[in-house]
Amino acid sequence: MTERADWAVLACYAHPDDEQGVTGFLRRCVEQGIRVGILCATRGEVGQIADPMLATPETLGAVREREMRRAAEVIGVQDVFFLDYRDSGMAGTDENADPRAFVNADPQEAVGRIVRVMRAFQPTLIITFDESGGYGHPDHLAICRWTTEAFHAAADAEQYPREGAAFAPARLYYASFGRGVIRQFAEFLAQNNIPSPFPGVDVEQMGLAEERITHTVYVSEYLDLKRRSLEEHRTQMFPNTALNALPAEMWNAFRSVERFALVAGVPLPEGAPEDDLFAGL
Ligand SMILES: [Zn+2]
Repeated sequence: MTERADWAVLACYAHPDDEQGVTGFLRRCVEQGIRVGILCATRGEVGQIADPMLATPETLGAVREREMRRAAEVIGVQDVFFLDYRDSGMAGTDENADPRAFVNADPQEAVGRIVRVMRAFQPTLIITFDESGGYGHPDHLAICRWTTEAFHAAADAEQYPREGAAFAPARLYYASFGRGVIRQFAEFLAQNNIPSPFPGVDVEQMGLAEERITHTVYVSEYLDLKRRSLEEHRTQMFPNTALNALPAEMWNAFRSVERFALVAGVPLPEGAPEDDLFAGL
């Protein structure tokens, strides 16, 4: 359909560090000469701060924007787009009610901003969270919903005519961890009496059910690069989280595999390799 040199990927997320689930795939694209962009709806300004030396609640948004840009640079990504919404906070917190919060955005306006980036960047593939947002963060659900709408709207010249000329990305993928891995984590934490990092979230509602996964990409060669990119999100490096309690082998196995579900766009050809998201294009 297009020349490989024209291929591009746009990963659409809600907060700096959400992109960390797909940094191996994005790096592989960079190495293949494919353009890669990261869209971030907010600056994660209501997140916790791991070290008070790094930021205050007032500066956190600006600090996390810089962290996001550095984390992207580590994997070779220069194009980072912010939609300038405010982080809505975890479900049930007061921040959910802030009128600037991403979840309170006018849906037309939010979809329009995403359409504008898609039409300008012209990505072949769009990647975003699955409908569970991984673990149910309200902004993750919103970015999944509005990115999905924008994927369809970007192709339609009658929609959002002020946001640029129509452009149709070829495929939309949801990226998340496989539910089997999350069950393993939950079992390990329970056996070791470590409280879940996501209390009240049902494991069976997290991530992608195995049967939906269309692509499994093995990225163990990028483990070190992925770690360095992750660690650029310094304000989010909490020393005593449940995830830090996981044995290194379990963590590395988790970080070595990235999973995707094709949800819209050009169907895959028969027998397409399970790690080729561009197959047949
Ligand atoms: Zn997030």
